[in-house]
Amino acid sequence: MSTTITPAQLARRELHDFDGRLIGPDDSDYEQARAVYNAMIDKRPALIARCAGRADVAQAIGFARDHGLLLAVRGGGHNGGGLGTCDDGVVADLSLLKEIEVDPAARTVRVGGGCTWGEVDRATGEHGLATPSGIISTTGVGGLTLGGGLGHLTRKCGLTIDNLLEAELVLASGESVRASATEHPDLYWAIRGGGGNFGVVTSFLFRLHEVGTIVGGPTFWPVEQGADVLSAYREFIPSAPRELGGFFAFATVPPAPPFPEAIHLRKVCGIVWSYVGGEQAAAKAMAPLLAEVPEPLMHGVQPMPHAMLQGAFDGLYPPGDQWYWRADFVNEIPDEAVRLHARFGSELPTMKSTMHLYPIDGAAHDVGPSDTAWSYRDAGWGAVFVGVGPDPANAAAIRNWSIDYQEALHPYSAGGAYVNMIMDEGEDRIRASYRDNYDRLARIKRTYDPDNLFRVNQNIRPAAA
Ligand SMILES: Cc1cc2nc3c(=O)[nH]c(=O)nc-3n(C[C@H](O)[C@H](O)[C@H](O)COP(=O)(O)OP(=O)(O)OC[C@H]3O[C@@H](n4cnc5c(N)ncnc54)[C@H](O)[C@@H]3O)c2cc1C
Repeated sequence: MSTTITPAQLARRELHDFDGRLIGPDDSDYEQARAVYNAMIDKRPALIARCAGRADVAQAIGFARDHGLLLAVRGGGHNGGGLGTCDDGVVADLSLLKEIEVDPAARTVRVGGGCTWGEVDRATGEHGLATPSGIISTTGVGGLTLGGGLGHLTRKCGLTIDNLLEAELVLASGESVRASATEHPDLYWAIRGGGGNFGVVTSFLFRLHEVGTIVGGPTFWPVEQGADVLSAYREFIPSAPRELGGFFAFATVPPAPPFPEAIHLRKVCGIVWSYVGGEQAAAKAMAPLLAEVPEPLMHGVQPMPHAMLQGAFDGLYPPGDQWYWRADFVNEIPDEAVRLHARFGSELPTMKSTMHLYPIDGAAHDVGPSDTAWSYRDAGWGAVFVGVGPDPANAAAIRNWSIDYQEALHPYSAGGAYVNMIMDEGEDRIRASYRDNYDRLARIKRTYDPDNLFRVNQNIRPAAA
């Protein structure tokens, strides 16, 4: 009989003060605990340390470090490349870190490292306040924030990191520190875009904005009008008022309300709007674009709470679908790129597959390329090409479409990509995505994580001494 002790057994023996839960392959809830949002990712950690607080996080880090085990950190578990988990190592699962403290007078919210955006948006929304995040409420605050944070409110309020005032981290050494403009400012600079490379964030403090009811929803046109609509959109959005967010998409109309039955399952191009302000002002802001393009199939724009818009895609994209991600930053969309978009956009391989162009301008351009780790402040859009579907039999089809589409458009891109929207594309791609900021990030990495314990991420290697 083998006497080899498993990491889960060893952890139970060693981590006496662990307040959360230690889950190993023999536990009945292991299968559920190891699953991440993207069903294409099928990893089997040796130990899932579900941490109940900062002390548990420090213990999980120390256990992985002392036993030479790979360490992954899981916030919301949404990462396309599955960077919230790993094979055979330790997952520090933050899903119990759910603190949310809104301070309406100070206009801030303190958020636990394992929250999802839906939880935060609901709490801040009660006060008519919000901080900018993404476009899906089930995404984790942790990963989205540390990578940058692009979404409906980017043009008005900046990236998520532009609203991050401070963060509490547990470092590779197990020490707890606060990163802000005045405490560990180098770390504060690095975590605003540099991902989970520098430590485990147990809480974030964000600035809040007055965003209660917004005017939002989609406008759809037949996919055959993709080139016309995109040509008008590329001219329109950079000069639109900051209150207006609007990402361009190729998609298929879901076969369910609120979409009219007549257009169910129709391939379309569209703009998903979000206007911070009233209905009349929203209509006025959108009017120049609508005047340039043919009559839409559907103009589903209406006032709604900000949190409702954030959750609008949740039903369409539940956990457990197959996802294949590619992305690029884009400065301009020349005519040849428009033609290619129109072609690939009309060849969506499954109902849920999509391409989005998220505007990166307005308030996001108020911050300089080296003010935070997030370098591409001069980009016009973040393009994402995602093949999505519930059926693993379509995995090759969605992967191929996503790769072919991105590779065809890449010559018209700015070079790098938003690190939160790529899978594993290697070190050169990471360097290209941080550009001139990479070397500084590598030096900060050397200070805070010289042995590269935090390497299940878009990894920045510690600079040589
Ligand atoms: C359906 C969907 C929609 C999305 N929409 C948007 C969008 O609109 N805008 C946008 O910007 N991005 C979007 N994303 C991308 C998203 O930002 C990334 O997938 C992000 O990594 C998810 O964060 P997470 O905490 O859920 O992921 P996880 O898989 O848990 O973690 C991802 C990475 O972040 C690290 N990490 C997470 N939490 C912490 C923490 N507290 N401390 C230290 N490291 C941590 C992990 O170690 C890992 O490297 C979307 C993703 C999906 C699947």
